[in-house]
Amino acid sequence: MKIIKAEHAGFCFGVERAVGIVENASTIYENVVTLGPIIHNPQLVNKLKEKGVLPVESTGDVEKKHTVIIRSHGITKDNYNFLKEKDVNIIDATCPFVIKAHKSAMNLSKEGYTVVVFGEKEHPEVKGIVSYVEGEYYLISSKEEAEQLPFKEKYGVVAQTTQNGEYFKNVVDVIKEKCNELKVVNTICNATTYRQEAAKAVAKQVDMMIIVGGKNSGNTRRLYEICKEICKNSIHIETKDELDEKMFENIEKVGITAGASTPDYLINDVINYLEEVGNARKCKKQ
Ligand code: SF4
Repeated sequence: MKIIKAEHAGFCFGVERAVGIVENASTIYENVVTLGPIIHNPQLVNKLKEKGVLPVESTGDVEKKHTVIIRSHGITKDNYNFLKEKDVNIIDATCPFVIKAHKSAMNLSKEGYTVVVFGEKEHPEVKGIVSYVEGEYYLISSKEEAEQLPFKEKYGVVAQTTQNGEYFKNVVDVIKEKCNELKVVNTICNATTYRQEAAKAVAKQVDMMIIVGGKNSGNTRRLYEICKEICKNSIHIETKDELDEKMFENIEKVGITAGASTPDYLINDVINYLEEVGNARKCKKQ
């Protein structure tokens, strides 16, 4: 059985950095908490709990004794200021690409632009970006919503980092017709696009596609949907324990990819399992 692992499977730069920051903090400080789970992966969150790092739901749950870590999505300006006022030890693991989006939103509003933020309205990252706008703004999540924008003298546009670049261009084309002056800051990070394109390329070549990652991870679920469209025999698992030898009886080529919040050790566990299944099959044939 041939195993093909997609490029860009697993942690993106921002998530790897944030997890590293948490692991390091757990060796230096006591009472380390993360504001929300550091990533959408229950296995890794549980491992961190064993090291004494607990997720808390909101800034209200943070106590003076805590060292609080801000996850890669970032938080709102109000929440950040609230923590500062509490005088707790803050470690900011916000991804630098998300910080760029915060700064861009703030600068556009300071330069007199009406800001348009393009992204998922309820996503914590988007709430964070919006909170840095200092004047009028619109939050839109589709081309159709861009068409509803009123005419303004100056629009300044930023996007949630994980949005699709091609679709964003279409949205910008619509906004161009709604103002006399337009400034666009490209705040999209390519990690998601690269991962999805690499997964598609593998899904085209295999009889079965395995997508590894938290069931609560939006980007992993999206990867699964994309692969399923190409390879009907696609499955989404969290760990190798969800696999069974029988699933591979008629499989010659199996592909594997993983969401941005899936640690390498979980991906490697699956690959090792597949190798064992392949070796066992070879032995039976001999
Ligand atoms: S997807 Fe991009 S912006 Fe988001 S955490 Fe990863 S590297 Fe940073």
